[in-house]
Amino acid sequence: MESSAVLKSKCSEFTLAAVSELSSPPVSSSSTPVIARFSADRGVAELQFFQDSNVIHGFDVNLGTSQLFKLGPVQSLCISESSDSNKEKLYSRGVTIQFRNEEESRDFHSAFEQWQNEDVTQGTDLPNGTTSAVGSKFDNKIEPSSAKMYFHYYGQLLHQQNMLQDYVRTGTYYAAVIENRIDFTGRVVVDVGAGSGILSLFAAQAGAKHVYAVEASEMAEYARKLIAGNPTLGQRITVIKGKVEEVELPEKADILISEPMGTLLVNERMLESYIIARERFLVPHGKMFPSIGRIHMAPFSDEYLFVEIANKALFWQQPNYYGVDLTPLYGSAFQGYFSQPVVDAFDPRLLVSPPMSHVIDFNEVKEEDLYEIDIPLKFVASVGARVHGLACWFDVLFNGSSVQRWLTTAPGAPTTHWYQIRCVLSQPIYVMAGQEITGRLHMVAHNAQSYTIYLTLSAKMWGPGAEQGVVLQTSSCKLDLKEPYYRMSQPQPYTMAQDQQPHQLLQVQDIPVHTVDLEEAELLQQQQQPLENSGAQLQ
Ligand code: SAH
Repeated sequence: MESSAVLKSKCSEFTLAAVSELSSPPVSSSSTPVIARFSADRGVAELQFFQDSNVIHGFDVNLGTSQLFKLGPVQSLCISESSDSNKEKLYSRGVTIQFRNEEESRDFHSAFEQWQNEDVTQGTDLPNGTTSAVGSKFDNKIEPSSAKMYFHYYGQLLHQQNMLQDYVRTGTYYAAVIENRIDFTGRVVVDVGAGSGILSLFAAQAGAKHVYAVEASEMAEYARKLIAGNPTLGQRITVIKGKVEEVELPEKADILISEPMGTLLVNERMLESYIIARERFLVPHGKMFPSIGRIHMAPFSDEYLFVEIANKALFWQQPNYYGVDLTPLYGSAFQGYFSQPVVDAFDPRLLVSPPMSHVIDFNEVKEEDLYEIDIPLKFVASVGARVHGLACWFDVLFNGSSVQRWLTTAPGAPTTHWYQIRCVLSQPIYVMAGQEITGRLHMVAHNAQSYTIYLTLSAKMWGPGAEQGVVLQTSSCKLDLKEPYYRMSQPQPYTMAQDQQPHQLLQVQDIPVHTVDLEEAELLQQQQQPLENSGAQLQ
Protein backbone atom coordinates (compact mmCIF):
# COMPACT_ATOMS: atom_id res chain seq x y z
CA MET A 1 0.00 0.00 0.00
CA GLU A 2 1.29 3.37 -1.00
CA SER A 3 2.01 5.29 2.16
CA SER A 4 2.31 8.81 0.81
CA ALA A 5 -0.86 8.77 -1.22
CA VAL A 6 -3.82 9.39 1.05
CA LEU A 7 -6.73 9.12 -1.32
CA LYS A 8 -9.99 10.42 0.03
CA SER A 9 -13.25 11.13 -1.71
CA LYS A 10 -12.79 14.91 -1.83
CA CYS A 11 -9.00 15.27 -2.09
CA SER A 12 -5.81 13.29 -2.27
CA GLU A 13 -2.33 14.25 -1.13
CA PHE A 14 1.20 13.26 -2.09
CA THR A 15 4.46 14.09 -0.37
CA LEU A 16 7.07 15.32 -2.86
CA ALA A 17 10.84 15.72 -2.77
CA ALA A 18 10.57 19.19 -4.37
CA VAL A 19 8.67 21.43 -6.79
CA SER A 20 9.89 24.36 -8.85
CA GLU A 21 8.69 26.72 -11.56
CA LEU A 22 10.51 25.92 -14.79
CA SER A 23 13.96 27.52 -14.59
CA SER A 24 13.51 28.71 -10.98
CA PRO A 25 15.26 27.24 -7.91
CA PRO A 26 13.31 24.36 -6.35
CA VAL A 27 11.09 24.68 -3.31
CA SER A 28 12.82 21.92 -1.42
CA SER A 29 11.57 19.57 1.22
CA SER A 30 14.78 19.49 3.25
CA SER A 31 13.08 20.55 6.49
CA THR A 32 9.35 20.56 5.85
CA PRO A 33 7.94 18.46 3.05
CA VAL A 34 6.13 19.84 0.03
CA ILE A 35 2.62 18.43 -0.29
CA ALA A 36 0.77 18.15 -3.60
CA ARG A 37 -2.97 18.16 -3.11
CA PHE A 38 -5.62 17.21 -5.70
CA SER A 39 -9.09 18.53 -4.95
CA ALA A 40 -12.37 19.46 -6.57
CA ASP A 41 -13.67 21.71 -3.83
CA ARG A 42 -14.83 24.51 -6.10
CA GLY A 43 -16.35 22.26 -8.74
CA VAL A 44 -13.10 22.34 -10.73
CA ALA A 45 -10.46 19.68 -10.28
CA GLU A 46 -7.20 21.36 -9.35
CA LEU A 47 -3.74 20.63 -8.04
CA GLN A 48 -2.13 22.85 -5.39
CA PHE A 49 1.18 22.67 -3.57
CA PHE A 50 1.63 23.34 0.13
CA GLN A 51 4.53 23.80 2.51
CA ASP A 52 4.05 24.22 6.26
CA SER A 53 0.28 24.02 5.58
CA ASN A 54 0.52 27.19 3.45
CA VAL A 55 -0.32 27.16 -0.22
CA ILE A 56 2.66 27.91 -2.46
CA HIS A 57 1.34 30.82 -4.52
CA GLY A 58 1.57 30.85 -8.29
CA PHE A 59 1.76 27.04 -8.50
CA ASP A 60 -1.96 26.26 -8.77
CA VAL A 61 -2.85 23.97 -11.65
CA ASN A 62 -6.30 23.66 -13.25
CA LEU A 63 -6.44 19.98 -14.20
CA GLY A 64 -8.93 20.67 -16.98
CA THR A 65 -6.33 22.61 -18.96
CA SER A 66 -3.07 20.91 -18.04
CA GLN A 67 -0.84 18.03 -19.08
CA LEU A 68 1.70 15.99 -17.13
CA PHE A 69 4.90 14.76 -18.76
CA LYS A 70 7.42 12.28 -17.38
CA LEU A 71 10.92 13.72 -17.60
CA GLY A 72 12.59 10.85 -15.77
CA PRO A 73 11.83 8.08 -13.28
CA VAL A 74 11.32 10.54 -10.43
CA GLN A 75 10.84 13.82 -12.26
CA SER A 76 7.80 15.15 -14.12
CA LEU A 77 6.71 18.39 -15.70
CA CYS A 78 3.22 19.79 -15.42
CA ILE A 79 2.27 22.28 -18.13
CA SER A 80 -0.87 24.27 -17.52
CA GLU A 81 -2.70 27.21 -18.96
CA SER A 82 -2.69 30.16 -16.68
CA SER A 83 -4.47 33.43 -16.94
CA ASP A 84 -2.98 36.45 -15.31
CA SER A 85 -5.73 38.85 -14.30
CA ASN A 86 -3.67 41.79 -15.57
CA LYS A 87 -3.21 40.32 -19.00
CA GLU A 88 -5.90 39.29 -21.42
CA LYS A 89 -4.18 36.35 -23.04
CA LEU A 90 -3.67 32.87 -21.66
CA TYR A 91 -0.11 31.66 -21.41
CA SER A 92 1.52 28.37 -20.47
CA ARG A 93 3.32 27.68 -17.22
CA GLY A 94 5.50 24.76 -16.22
CA VAL A 95 5.98 23.25 -12.78
CA THR A 96 8.75 20.69 -12.34
CA ILE A 97 7.92 18.00 -9.79
CA GLN A 98 10.55 15.86 -8.09
CA PHE A 99 9.31 12.63 -6.47
CA ARG A 100 10.86 10.67 -3.64
CA ASN A 101 10.77 7.42 -5.58
CA GLU A 102 9.46 5.80 -8.78
CA GLU A 103 6.41 4.25 -7.21
CA GLU A 104 5.24 7.57 -5.83
CA SER A 105 5.81 9.08 -9.27
CA ARG A 106 3.63 6.38 -10.86
CA ASP A 107 0.88 6.83 -8.30
CA PHE A 108 0.95 10.59 -8.76
CA HIS A 109 0.54 10.17 -12.52
CA SER A 110 -2.45 7.85 -12.12
CA ALA A 111 -4.01 10.22 -9.56
CA PHE A 112 -3.48 13.10 -12.00
CA GLU A 113 -5.37 11.16 -14.67
CA GLN A 114 -8.14 10.25 -12.25
CA TRP A 115 -8.66 13.81 -11.15
CA GLN A 116 -8.60 15.03 -14.73
CA ASN A 117 -11.42 12.59 -15.49
CA GLU A 118 -13.27 13.95 -12.48
CA ASP A 119 -13.04 17.41 -13.98
CA VAL A 120 -14.11 16.31 -17.43
CA THR A 121 -17.07 14.25 -16.25
CA GLN A 122 -18.30 17.07 -14.05
CA GLY A 123 -17.96 19.39 -17.00
CA THR A 124 -20.13 17.29 -19.27
CA ASP A 125 -23.05 16.75 -16.95
CA LEU A 126 -25.61 17.44 -19.63
CA PRO A 127 -29.37 17.02 -19.54
CA ASN A 128 -30.73 13.58 -20.39
CA GLY A 129 -30.66 12.69 -24.03
CA THR A 130 -27.98 15.05 -25.29
CA THR A 131 -24.37 14.18 -25.86
CA SER A 132 -21.44 16.49 -25.54
CA ALA A 133 -19.62 17.77 -28.59
CA VAL A 134 -16.32 17.10 -26.78
CA GLY A 135 -17.15 13.38 -26.27
CA SER A 136 -19.43 11.26 -24.13
CA LYS A 137 -18.89 10.27 -20.52
CA PHE A 138 -17.52 7.01 -21.84
CA ASP A 139 -15.02 8.61 -24.24
CA ASN A 140 -13.85 11.07 -21.62
CA LYS A 141 -12.81 8.46 -19.10
CA ILE A 142 -11.78 5.45 -21.22
CA GLU A 143 -8.59 5.16 -23.26
CA PRO A 144 -9.63 4.73 -26.96
CA SER A 145 -7.28 1.77 -27.48
CA SER A 146 -8.83 -0.05 -24.50
CA ALA A 147 -12.37 0.60 -25.76
CA LYS A 148 -11.41 -0.58 -29.24
CA MET A 149 -10.09 -3.91 -27.95
CA TYR A 150 -13.02 -4.28 -25.59
CA PHE A 151 -15.72 -3.86 -28.22
CA HIS A 152 -13.72 -5.94 -30.70
CA TYR A 153 -13.76 -8.78 -28.16
CA TYR A 154 -17.52 -8.56 -27.60
CA GLY A 155 -18.13 -8.22 -31.34
CA GLN A 156 -17.15 -11.89 -31.79
CA LEU A 157 -19.74 -14.65 -31.50
CA LEU A 158 -17.33 -17.02 -29.77
CA HIS A 159 -17.13 -14.76 -26.72
CA GLN A 160 -20.90 -14.27 -26.62
CA GLN A 161 -21.22 -18.05 -26.89
CA ASN A 162 -18.90 -18.46 -23.92
CA MET A 163 -21.26 -16.33 -21.81
CA LEU A 164 -24.37 -18.04 -23.19
CA GLN A 165 -22.81 -21.41 -22.30
CA ASP A 166 -22.36 -20.34 -18.72
CA TYR A 167 -25.65 -21.98 -17.76
CA VAL A 168 -25.49 -20.81 -14.17
CA ARG A 169 -25.41 -17.25 -15.46
CA THR A 170 -27.86 -17.46 -18.35
CA GLY A 171 -30.18 -19.90 -16.57
CA THR A 172 -30.42 -17.62 -13.54
CA TYR A 173 -31.27 -14.62 -15.75
CA TYR A 174 -33.89 -16.70 -17.57
CA ALA A 175 -35.48 -17.93 -14.34
CA ALA A 176 -35.42 -14.45 -12.80
CA VAL A 177 -37.18 -12.93 -15.83
CA ILE A 178 -39.74 -15.67 -16.41
CA GLU A 179 -40.62 -16.02 -12.72
CA ASN A 180 -41.21 -12.29 -12.60
CA ARG A 181 -43.39 -11.85 -15.69
CA ILE A 182 -45.38 -9.35 -13.70
CA ASP A 183 -42.44 -6.93 -13.88
CA PHE A 184 -42.13 -7.25 -17.67
CA THR A 185 -45.65 -7.72 -19.04
CA GLY A 186 -46.77 -4.60 -20.92
CA ARG A 187 -43.59 -2.73 -19.89
CA VAL A 188 -40.91 -0.87 -21.83
CA VAL A 189 -37.52 -2.51 -21.26
CA VAL A 190 -33.96 -1.37 -22.07
CA ASP A 191 -31.32 -4.10 -22.41
CA VAL A 192 -28.05 -2.37 -21.46
CA GLY A 193 -25.21 -3.96 -23.44
CA ALA A 194 -27.42 -6.47 -25.24
CA GLY A 195 -24.64 -8.55 -26.85
CA SER A 196 -26.38 -11.35 -28.79
CA GLY A 197 -29.75 -9.95 -27.65
CA ILE A 198 -30.50 -12.92 -25.41
CA LEU A 199 -31.83 -10.91 -22.45
CA SER A 200 -34.02 -8.83 -24.79
CA LEU A 201 -35.53 -12.08 -26.12
CA PHE A 202 -36.13 -13.29 -22.54
CA ALA A 203 -37.84 -9.97 -21.70
CA ALA A 204 -40.02 -10.30 -24.82
CA GLN A 205 -40.89 -13.87 -23.76
CA ALA A 206 -41.99 -12.44 -20.42
CA GLY A 207 -44.46 -10.17 -22.21
CA ALA A 208 -42.55 -6.87 -22.57
CA LYS A 209 -44.43 -4.25 -24.61
CA HIS A 210 -41.19 -3.16 -26.25
CA VAL A 211 -37.48 -3.83 -25.68
CA TYR A 212 -34.68 -1.50 -26.77
CA ALA A 213 -31.52 -3.58 -27.11
CA VAL A 214 -28.52 -1.22 -26.90
CA GLU A 215 -25.19 -2.70 -27.97
CA ALA A 216 -22.03 -0.80 -28.88
CA SER A 217 -20.02 -3.57 -30.57
CA GLU A 218 -20.44 -5.19 -33.98
CA MET A 219 -22.48 -7.82 -32.13
CA ALA A 220 -25.45 -5.50 -32.66
CA GLU A 221 -25.63 -6.80 -36.26
CA TYR A 222 -25.75 -10.42 -35.08
CA ALA A 223 -28.36 -9.48 -32.48
CA ARG A 224 -30.52 -8.02 -35.29
CA LYS A 225 -30.18 -11.30 -37.19
CA LEU A 226 -31.03 -13.44 -34.18
CA ILE A 227 -34.01 -11.28 -33.31
CA ALA A 228 -35.25 -11.26 -36.90
CA GLY A 229 -35.08 -15.06 -36.83
CA ASN A 230 -37.43 -15.10 -33.82
CA PRO A 231 -40.19 -12.93 -35.30
CA THR A 232 -42.91 -13.43 -32.71
CA LEU A 233 -40.59 -11.99 -30.11
CA GLY A 234 -38.54 -9.85 -32.49
CA GLN A 235 -41.43 -7.62 -33.51
CA ARG A 236 -41.28 -6.13 -30.00
CA ILE A 237 -37.49 -5.60 -29.99
CA THR A 238 -35.49 -2.75 -31.53
CA VAL A 239 -31.71 -3.13 -31.68
CA ILE A 240 -29.82 0.15 -31.34
CA LYS A 241 -26.15 0.11 -32.14
CA GLY A 242 -24.19 2.49 -29.95
CA LYS A 243 -23.01 3.18 -26.43
CA VAL A 244 -25.62 3.65 -23.74
CA GLU A 245 -23.81 6.87 -22.91
CA GLU A 246 -24.53 8.23 -26.38
CA VAL A 247 -27.65 6.76 -28.01
CA GLU A 248 -31.07 8.38 -27.93
CA LEU A 249 -34.22 6.39 -27.17
CA PRO A 250 -37.75 7.42 -28.16
CA GLU A 251 -39.24 6.67 -24.73
CA LYS A 252 -38.30 6.01 -21.11
CA ALA A 253 -37.98 2.48 -19.74
CA ASP A 254 -39.99 0.93 -16.90
CA ILE A 255 -37.26 -1.63 -16.35
CA LEU A 256 -33.57 -2.06 -17.22
CA ILE A 257 -32.04 -5.46 -17.76
CA SER A 258 -28.29 -5.94 -18.06
CA GLU A 259 -25.39 -8.23 -17.41
CA PRO A 260 -22.67 -5.67 -16.63
CA MET A 261 -20.61 -7.73 -14.16
CA GLY A 262 -16.91 -8.36 -14.63
CA THR A 263 -14.53 -10.27 -12.40
CA LEU A 264 -14.73 -8.89 -8.87
CA LEU A 265 -18.05 -7.38 -10.01
CA VAL A 266 -16.51 -4.09 -11.13
CA ASN A 267 -13.91 -5.15 -13.73
CA GLU A 268 -14.56 -3.69 -17.21
CA ARG A 269 -16.23 -0.65 -15.57
CA MET A 270 -19.49 -1.56 -17.26
CA LEU A 271 -21.44 -1.06 -14.02
CA GLU A 272 -20.84 2.64 -14.62
CA SER A 273 -22.58 2.34 -18.01
CA TYR A 274 -25.48 0.56 -16.28
CA ILE A 275 -25.78 3.48 -13.85
CA ILE A 276 -25.58 6.02 -16.68
CA ALA A 277 -28.34 4.08 -18.45
CA ARG A 278 -30.43 4.35 -15.26
CA GLU A 279 -29.91 8.12 -15.22
CA ARG A 280 -30.68 8.52 -18.91
CA PHE A 281 -33.44 6.02 -19.62
CA LEU A 282 -35.21 4.73 -16.50
CA VAL A 283 -38.44 6.25 -15.19
CA PRO A 284 -38.28 7.36 -11.54
CA HIS A 285 -38.53 4.30 -9.27
CA GLY A 286 -38.22 2.00 -12.30
CA LYS A 287 -36.85 -1.51 -11.77
CA MET A 288 -33.31 -2.70 -12.37
CA PHE A 289 -32.52 -6.35 -13.14
CA PRO A 290 -30.22 -6.89 -11.26
CA SER A 291 -30.71 -4.27 -8.54
CA ILE A 292 -27.94 -5.00 -6.05
CA GLY A 293 -24.40 -6.37 -6.24
CA ARG A 294 -22.27 -7.56 -3.35
CA ILE A 295 -18.51 -8.12 -3.25
CA HIS A 296 -17.65 -10.83 -0.72
CA MET A 297 -14.17 -11.13 0.76
CA ALA A 298 -12.34 -13.48 3.11
CA PRO A 299 -8.68 -14.20 3.89
CA PHE A 300 -7.44 -17.53 2.55
CA SER A 301 -4.54 -19.89 3.07
CA ASP A 302 -3.13 -21.71 0.04
CA GLU A 303 0.49 -22.79 0.26
CA TYR A 304 0.43 -24.34 -3.22
CA LEU A 305 -0.75 -21.19 -4.89
CA PHE A 306 1.76 -19.04 -3.01
CA VAL A 307 4.69 -21.25 -3.94
CA GLU A 308 3.49 -21.54 -7.53
CA ILE A 309 3.48 -17.76 -7.94
CA ALA A 310 6.75 -17.18 -6.12
CA ASN A 311 8.42 -19.90 -8.22
CA LYS A 312 7.51 -18.19 -11.47
CA ALA A 313 10.10 -15.53 -10.75
CA LEU A 314 12.88 -18.10 -10.09
CA PHE A 315 13.77 -17.92 -13.77
CA TRP A 316 15.29 -14.52 -13.04
CA GLN A 317 17.61 -15.95 -10.41
CA GLN A 318 19.91 -17.43 -13.07
CA PRO A 319 23.38 -15.86 -12.82
CA ASN A 320 24.44 -17.29 -16.18
CA TYR A 321 21.72 -17.24 -18.82
CA TYR A 322 23.70 -17.50 -22.08
CA GLY A 323 26.42 -15.64 -20.19
CA VAL A 324 24.05 -12.98 -18.83
CA ASP A 325 23.28 -12.46 -15.13
CA LEU A 326 19.49 -12.20 -14.89
CA THR A 327 19.36 -11.59 -11.14
CA PRO A 328 19.06 -7.78 -11.32
CA LEU A 329 15.49 -8.29 -12.55
CA TYR A 330 14.51 -10.95 -10.00
CA GLY A 331 12.89 -8.50 -7.55
CA SER A 332 10.84 -6.80 -10.27
CA ALA A 333 9.71 -10.15 -11.71
CA PHE A 334 8.72 -11.36 -8.22
CA GLN A 335 6.65 -8.21 -7.61
CA GLY A 336 5.19 -8.48 -11.11
CA TYR A 337 3.81 -11.96 -10.52
CA PHE A 338 2.29 -10.92 -7.19
CA SER A 339 0.57 -7.95 -8.89
CA GLN A 340 -1.67 -10.31 -10.87
CA PRO A 341 -4.98 -11.27 -9.27
CA VAL A 342 -5.47 -15.03 -9.59
CA VAL A 343 -8.66 -16.16 -11.35
CA ASP A 344 -9.74 -19.73 -10.62
CA ALA A 345 -12.27 -21.76 -8.69
CA PHE A 346 -10.95 -22.70 -5.27
CA ASP A 347 -12.18 -24.93 -2.49
CA PRO A 348 -14.01 -22.89 0.18
CA ARG A 349 -12.12 -24.84 2.84
CA LEU A 350 -9.15 -22.62 2.02
CA LEU A 351 -10.95 -19.68 3.63
CA VAL A 352 -9.54 -18.75 7.00
CA SER A 353 -12.58 -16.84 8.29
CA PRO A 354 -16.23 -16.22 7.45
CA PRO A 355 -16.53 -13.67 4.63
CA MET A 356 -17.63 -10.06 4.87
CA SER A 357 -19.37 -8.14 2.11
CA HIS A 358 -19.60 -4.74 0.47
CA VAL A 359 -22.97 -3.84 -1.04
CA ILE A 360 -23.48 -1.74 -4.16
CA ASP A 361 -27.08 -0.68 -4.63
CA PHE A 362 -27.53 -0.13 -8.37
CA ASN A 363 -30.71 1.90 -7.76
CA GLU A 364 -28.88 4.40 -5.59
CA VAL A 365 -25.16 4.42 -6.38
CA LYS A 366 -23.76 7.34 -8.35
CA GLU A 367 -21.55 6.62 -11.31
CA GLU A 368 -18.66 8.53 -9.72
CA ASP A 369 -18.92 6.42 -6.55
CA LEU A 370 -17.51 3.57 -8.62
CA TYR A 371 -14.31 5.46 -9.51
CA GLU A 372 -12.87 4.62 -6.12
CA ILE A 373 -14.08 1.82 -3.85
CA ASP A 374 -12.59 1.74 -0.38
CA ILE A 375 -13.49 -1.19 1.87
CA PRO A 376 -12.24 -1.48 5.46
CA LEU A 377 -11.65 -5.14 6.30
CA LYS A 378 -12.17 -6.96 9.58
CA PHE A 379 -12.25 -10.73 10.06
CA VAL A 380 -11.85 -13.22 12.88
CA ALA A 381 -9.75 -16.25 11.95
CA SER A 382 -11.60 -19.54 12.49
CA VAL A 383 -8.35 -21.51 12.24
CA GLY A 384 -4.66 -21.09 12.79
CA ALA A 385 -3.08 -20.62 9.37
CA ARG A 386 -0.65 -18.74 7.22
CA VAL A 387 -2.80 -16.17 5.41
CA HIS A 388 -1.71 -15.78 1.80
CA GLY A 389 -4.14 -13.09 0.76
CA LEU A 390 -7.73 -12.12 0.18
CA ALA A 391 -10.26 -14.18 -1.77
CA CYS A 392 -13.12 -12.29 -3.43
CA TRP A 393 -16.30 -13.15 -5.28
CA PHE A 394 -19.63 -11.48 -5.92
CA ASP A 395 -23.33 -12.02 -6.29
CA VAL A 396 -26.20 -9.96 -7.72
CA LEU A 397 -29.89 -9.83 -6.79
CA PHE A 398 -32.91 -9.91 -9.07
CA ASN A 399 -35.43 -8.28 -6.81
CA GLY A 400 -38.53 -9.37 -8.70
CA SER A 401 -42.04 -8.57 -7.54
CA SER A 402 -42.85 -12.30 -7.44
CA VAL A 403 -39.51 -13.98 -6.73
CA GLN A 404 -36.15 -12.76 -5.43
CA ARG A 405 -33.24 -14.60 -6.95
CA TRP A 406 -29.47 -14.34 -6.41
CA LEU A 407 -26.85 -15.12 -9.04
CA THR A 408 -23.79 -16.15 -7.04
CA THR A 409 -20.15 -16.76 -8.00
CA ALA A 410 -19.19 -18.05 -4.53
CA PRO A 411 -16.53 -20.75 -4.05
CA GLY A 412 -18.25 -24.07 -3.56
CA ALA A 413 -21.30 -22.95 -5.55
CA PRO A 414 -21.63 -24.14 -9.17
CA THR A 415 -18.76 -22.54 -11.09
CA THR A 416 -19.43 -19.63 -13.43
CA HIS A 417 -17.20 -18.13 -16.12
CA TRP A 418 -16.26 -15.45 -13.57
CA TYR A 419 -14.72 -18.06 -11.21
CA GLN A 420 -13.32 -16.31 -8.11
CA ILE A 421 -10.48 -13.84 -7.64
CA ARG A 422 -7.61 -14.09 -5.19
CA CYS A 423 -5.18 -11.29 -4.34
CA VAL A 424 -1.99 -12.96 -3.14
CA LEU A 425 0.41 -11.29 -0.69
CA SER A 426 4.12 -11.71 -1.37
CA GLN A 427 4.59 -11.71 2.42
CA PRO A 428 2.04 -13.98 4.10
CA ILE A 429 0.94 -13.37 7.69
CA TYR A 430 0.41 -15.88 10.49
CA VAL A 431 -2.79 -16.00 12.48
CA MET A 432 -4.16 -18.12 15.26
CA ALA A 433 -7.75 -19.27 15.69
CA GLY A 434 -9.81 -16.42 17.13
CA GLN A 435 -7.33 -13.78 16.04
CA GLU A 436 -8.57 -10.61 14.39
CA ILE A 437 -7.37 -9.77 10.87
CA THR A 438 -7.88 -6.17 9.77
CA GLY A 439 -7.02 -4.33 6.59
CA ARG A 440 -8.22 -2.38 3.61
CA LEU A 441 -9.21 -3.18 0.04
CA HIS A 442 -8.86 0.01 -1.95
CA MET A 443 -9.75 -0.09 -5.64
CA VAL A 444 -9.07 2.85 -7.92
CA ALA A 445 -10.56 2.81 -11.42
CA HIS A 446 -8.23 3.42 -14.36
CA ASN A 447 -8.83 4.44 -17.95
CA ALA A 448 -8.20 0.94 -19.33
CA GLN A 449 -11.64 -0.18 -18.05
CA SER A 450 -10.36 -1.78 -14.89
CA TYR A 451 -8.99 -1.06 -11.42
CA THR A 452 -5.73 -0.79 -9.51
CA ILE A 453 -6.18 -2.75 -6.29
CA TYR A 454 -4.36 -1.82 -3.09
CA LEU A 455 -4.68 -4.53 -0.44
CA THR A 456 -3.40 -4.43 3.12
CA LEU A 457 -3.92 -7.18 5.70
CA SER A 458 -2.71 -6.97 9.30
CA ALA A 459 -2.88 -9.35 12.23
CA LYS A 460 -2.71 -7.86 15.67
CA MET A 461 -0.66 -9.26 18.48
CA TRP A 462 -2.18 -12.16 20.36
CA GLY A 463 -1.53 -13.10 23.95
CA PRO A 464 0.36 -10.93 26.47
CA GLY A 465 0.51 -7.31 25.36
CA ALA A 466 -2.43 -7.69 23.00
CA GLU A 467 -4.47 -5.17 24.94
CA GLN A 468 -2.10 -2.45 23.72
CA GLY A 469 -3.30 -3.25 20.19
CA VAL A 470 0.19 -3.32 18.71
CA VAL A 471 0.22 -4.41 15.07
CA LEU A 472 2.60 -7.31 14.82
CA GLN A 473 2.46 -8.15 11.14
CA THR A 474 1.19 -6.22 8.18
CA SER A 475 1.44 -7.04 4.50
CA SER A 476 0.42 -5.00 1.45
CA CYS A 477 0.25 -5.45 -2.28
CA LYS A 478 -0.76 -3.54 -5.37
CA LEU A 479 -2.48 -5.40 -8.20
CA ASP A 480 -3.90 -4.59 -11.61
CA LEU A 481 -7.31 -6.16 -12.12
CA LYS A 482 -6.77 -5.79 -15.86
CA GLU A 483 -3.86 -8.27 -15.78
CA PRO A 484 -5.17 -11.40 -14.08
CA TYR A 485 -3.47 -14.76 -13.93
CA TYR A 486 -5.98 -17.27 -15.33
CA ARG A 487 -5.24 -20.45 -13.45
CA MET A 488 -8.28 -22.49 -14.46
CA SER A 489 -6.35 -25.33 -16.10
CA GLN A 490 -4.67 -26.27 -12.81
CA PRO A 491 -6.12 -29.11 -10.72
CA GLN A 492 -8.27 -27.49 -8.07
CA PRO A 493 -9.45 -30.09 -5.54
CA TYR A 494 -8.11 -29.39 -2.11
CA THR A 495 -5.92 -32.10 -0.65
CA MET A 496 -4.60 -32.43 2.84
CA ALA A 497 -1.09 -32.86 1.44
CA GLN A 498 -0.27 -29.16 1.43
CA ASP A 499 2.73 -29.88 3.61
CA GLN A 500 4.65 -31.56 0.83
CA GLN A 501 7.11 -28.71 0.97
CA PRO A 502 7.60 -27.60 -2.61
CA HIS A 503 8.45 -24.31 -0.89
CA GLN A 504 11.87 -25.71 0.07
CA LEU A 505 12.96 -24.59 -3.33
CA LEU A 506 12.30 -21.07 -2.19
CA GLN A 507 13.95 -21.57 1.15
CA VAL A 508 11.00 -19.97 2.84
CA GLN A 509 11.64 -20.69 6.48
CA ASP A 510 9.26 -22.09 8.96
CA ILE A 511 6.13 -22.89 6.95
CA PRO A 512 3.76 -24.71 9.29
CA VAL A 513 1.34 -27.38 8.21
CA HIS A 514 -1.92 -25.56 8.43
CA THR A 515 -5.18 -27.14 9.32
CA VAL A 516 -8.35 -25.87 7.84
CA ASP A 517 -11.72 -25.89 9.49
CA LEU A 518 -13.94 -28.29 7.60
CA GLU A 519 -16.99 -26.41 8.79
CA GLU A 520 -16.23 -23.75 6.19
CA ALA A 521 -17.08 -26.24 3.49
CA GLU A 522 -20.24 -27.25 5.25
CA LEU A 523 -21.21 -23.60 5.40
CA LEU A 524 -20.99 -23.22 1.66
CA GLN A 525 -22.22 -26.76 1.08
CA GLN A 526 -22.28 -27.39 -2.65
CA GLN A 527 -19.58 -29.42 -4.30
CA GLN A 528 -17.43 -27.79 -6.91
CA GLN A 529 -18.39 -28.35 -10.52
CA PRO A 530 -15.86 -29.63 -13.01
CA LEU A 531 -14.30 -26.75 -14.89
CA GLU A 532 -15.62 -26.45 -18.39
CA ASN A 533 -14.08 -23.28 -19.62
CA SER A 534 -10.49 -22.34 -19.90
CA GLY A 535 -8.55 -19.55 -21.50
CA ALA A 536 -8.70 -15.83 -21.00
CA GLN A 537 -12.03 -14.08 -20.81
CA LEU A 538 -12.96 -10.55 -20.16
CA GLN A 539 -15.89 -11.38 -17.94
N1 SAH B 1 -26.45 -9.06 -22.42
C1 SAH B 1 -25.63 -10.05 -23.09
C2 SAH B 1 -24.16 -9.62 -23.21
C3 SAH B 1 -23.45 -9.31 -21.89
S1 SAH B 1 -21.75 -8.89 -22.09
C4 SAH B 1 -25.73 -11.35 -22.33
O1 SAH B 1 -26.16 -11.33 -21.18
O2 SAH B 1 -25.38 -12.39 -22.87
C5 SAH B 1 -21.81 -7.14 -22.06
C6 SAH B 1 -22.17 -6.50 -23.39
O3 SAH B 1 -22.31 -5.11 -23.18
C7 SAH B 1 -21.08 -6.65 -24.47
O4 SAH B 1 -21.63 -7.16 -25.63
C8 SAH B 1 -20.54 -5.24 -24.66
O5 SAH B 1 -20.15 -4.97 -25.99
C9 SAH B 1 -21.72 -4.39 -24.24
N2 SAH B 1 -21.35 -3.06 -23.70
C10 SAH B 1 -20.43 -2.80 -22.76
N3 SAH B 1 -20.39 -1.50 -22.48
C11 SAH B 1 -21.32 -0.90 -23.26
C12 SAH B 1 -21.76 0.43 -23.44
N4 SAH B 1 -21.22 1.40 -22.73
N5 SAH B 1 -22.74 0.68 -24.33
C13 SAH B 1 -23.29 -0.34 -25.06
N6 SAH B 1 -22.91 -1.62 -24.95
C14 SAH B 1 -21.95 -1.90 -24.06
